[in-house]
Amino acid sequence: MPIYAFRCEKCDHEYEALVPRMDETAACPECGGEKVARLLTAPADYRGSGGPEVPPCGQGGCASGQCPFS
Ligand SMILES: [Zn+2]
Repeated sequence: MPIYAFRCEKCDHEYEALVPRMDETAACPECGGEKVARLLTAPADYRGSGGPEVPPCGQGGCASGQCPFS
């Protein structure tokens, strides 16, 4: 099951969560908000496999500090 990164549109909290399908989201763990935006990030499956040269998120480092590419 892939890990996706989300950002809560209510409190701006960024987090990663396992979701069963591409079109599903996970509620914000901070405020419980369900209005969240999916951030473009590499599924966990791709990590440690050589990886792309450019961070998949295109941000050059995620604000959460948890980005494996920063
Ligand atoms: Zn939130």
